[in-house]
Amino acid sequence: MPEMPEVEGLVEFLRGRVTGLRVDKATVSAINALKTYDPPLTALVGAHVTGVDRHGKFLDIATDGAVHLVFHLAKAGWLRWYDALPTTIIKPGKTPIALRVGFDDGSGFDLTEAGTKKSLAVYAVHSPAEVPGIARLGPDPLSAGFDRATFGSLLAGRRTQIKGVLRDQSIIAGVGNAYSDEILHAAKMSPYALAATLSDDEVDRLFTAMTTTLAEAIHEARGKPPAELKDAKRRGMRVHGRRGEACPVCGDEVRSVFFADNSLEYCPTCQTGGKLLADRRLSRLLK
Ligand SMILES: [Zn+2]
Repeated sequence: MPEMPEVEGLVEFLRGRVTGLRVDKATVSAINALKTYDPPLTALVGAHVTGVDRHGKFLDIATDGAVHLVFHLAKAGWLRWYDALPTTIIKPGKTPIALRVGFDDGSGFDLTEAGTKKSLAVYAVHSPAEVPGIARLGPDPLSAGFDRATFGSLLAGRRTQIKGVLRDQSIIAGVGNAYSDEILHAAKMSPYALAATLSDDEVDRLFTAMTTTLAEAIHEARGKPPAELKDAKRRGMRVHGRRGEACPVCGDEVRSVFFADNSLEYCPTCQTGGKLLADRRLSRLLK
């Protein structure tokens, strides 16, 4: 799942490629992916791209036609770029392609989504704030005004697990399952620690871990074409997705906790004083 660094990489790539181009085609083939009907997607056609931005994990392509094309790649979505967009007809329901956008120089991109659980979302809106997921977003941790004091105030009083707080888009925008694992590992903190009970030193550590982890990942993503961003993300992970491998910091075995539809990874020696966290699937069965 692309998170803030990969989305930022896509934004920078698209900004360099499509700013100033005219939209010649915008076709949805996965009809459920399109979440808006007014303005219609066809309102984009003929408009010129004026900018590409990121809001949390959403991409926002602005045009001079007063319509923004906004999309969220969700768990299994991705963007495939073409210098020369294929002219093949897309058959709805028989392709992973959810949306195809073409520009007047012949280039374009497809949004694709693997798997059967479809949650990729596309919006045509007059303003990005009309997208509910964007209106709900908390502050972006790499924005200029986001400092240690901002972070501390977001955590204060929340008697919920820090892993969930980091992933909650309405508290902090852009961090998902993968980078929250990485941030907590870098901060040497248990994913189950309660946000409100962290000491000042722990909040300091977590803030530093978050900003450096995200900044490093964005540095890695920068300048890479979309096809290379997923591998770059995977390569940068120290614990996420590395169950059974050795922690690069201490050599202990990276462990997982499984949930209904995902898992988290952590290093017991670095993060929980050697304690193994219970498998949530199993403990639910035992209740
Ligand atoms: Zn470790």
